[in-house]
Amino acid sequence: MVAELISVGTELLLGDIVNTNAAFLARQCAALGLSVYHQSVVGDNEERLAEVLSEAMERSDVVILSGGLGPTEDDLTRETCARVMDMPLEEDEHTRRRIREYFSGTSQKEIPESNWRQAMVPRGASVLDNDNGTAPGLILEKNHKMLVLLPGPPAELIPMFQKKAVPYLRRLQPEVILSQTVKLCGIGESKAESRIQDLIDAQTNPTIATYAGTGEVHLRLTAKARGAEQAEKMFKPLIKEIRKRFGTAVYSLKEEETMEMVVVRLLKKYELTVTTAESCTGGMLAARIVNVPGSSEVFSQGLVTYSNKSKRRLLDVNKATLKKYTAVSKETAREMAMGGVLASDADICVAVTGIAGPDGGTEEKPVGLVYIACCIRESVVVEKHQFRGNRSRIRELAVINGLDLLRRCILDHYAGGGHHS
Ligand code: ATP
Repeated sequence: MVAELISVGTELLLGDIVNTNAAFLARQCAALGLSVYHQSVVGDNEERLAEVLSEAMERSDVVILSGGLGPTEDDLTRETCARVMDMPLEEDEHTRRRIREYFSGTSQKEIPESNWRQAMVPRGASVLDNDNGTAPGLILEKNHKMLVLLPGPPAELIPMFQKKAVPYLRRLQPEVILSQTVKLCGIGESKAESRIQDLIDAQTNPTIATYAGTGEVHLRLTAKARGAEQAEKMFKPLIKEIRKRFGTAVYSLKEEETMEMVVVRLLKKYELTVTTAESCTGGMLAARIVNVPGSSEVFSQGLVTYSNKSKRRLLDVNKATLKKYTAVSKETAREMAMGGVLASDADICVAVTGIAGPDGGTEEKPVGLVYIACCIRESVVVEKHQFRGNRSRIRELAVINGLDLLRRCILDHYAGGGHHS
């Protein structure tokens, strides 16, 4: 089943507003299993709208229009669709009543004459009530073609589409497309891809695609199924296989769950507290943890120790260590993490020290060299990274890898290193 989108509004053509409705509708169509091959934007002009509409109806089964349903003269969508579909407009008593009710709930008691235009409905059309405004949505069906007319304001369009239009579209297309995300950290995109190349090559339904983020790779599994339950069954063996191949690098299966959310969840689960000792990340690691609501249960303080002096004073890093190995070294990172635990009453400390650039690199210690240490129950793990990119990217990579090391250390100590995310 092929769907097509038409966004109506001169403001969109001029770039005064961004077409977020089209992005929303396109995603929704994909989730409904509708194929979208064309999208257009047209101004508030009857002739051009009729032209685009006729063309769309020739090549698509469903045309979804947004905007131009308002009460003013330049809102032409309803009239134009009625004309092109040859369905004359008639007054709809139900919609008149709803408009009256809508205004009685606002401070504006006088109903503008122009608003009654919105009660004119093409003969035979289905009305989609607008719970957030006056312009009703409409569904026009004729000769196996369907037009769905939705109001422009996203606050009206989104709930109307989800609650009122989806049941119509689902009837047309019983199969839905559902996705499942598998989030990985600590592995590059090409390496991740090559490790599942055979699964990618064999993919039909579900399909697998990889997306690279900063220090992360997300795998997106997409299934065409008759419902969520069937899709879940299709994802299950694939997720099992992916976990087998990537182990603890899989940190979440939830689209909305970030690395810091996972870390805070694990800290809470094992009733642990954490502190941070940061040099080149300058507090960004602590900020990411504090991003998560409820992090106060697990995070009481973090230290930003940028200079050697502060590393010595606040974290008790040995003067001789700094002199012999310098601030960016495995030894300093280790002492920072141990010092962080002693300086606070936290169970764990993550420490970061590195060269974010653009200056300060040497042949031996180039820009992007970062040591991350995690001290947990008197044992310390130190990891060496060589990141590429500009200053802000290097710092961001240090943060995500710091959070990831923290996560893996908790799993190693408290979950037996198992494949629990
Ligand atoms: P109304 O009943 O408010 O007049 P309408 O259906 O006539 O609604 P338009 O007049 O086309 O819709 O647009 C109203 C407002 O909705 C725009 O000013 C804009 O803020 C928002 N809007 C319209 N189209 C889009 C779009 N495609 N993407 C995002 N926002 C949009």
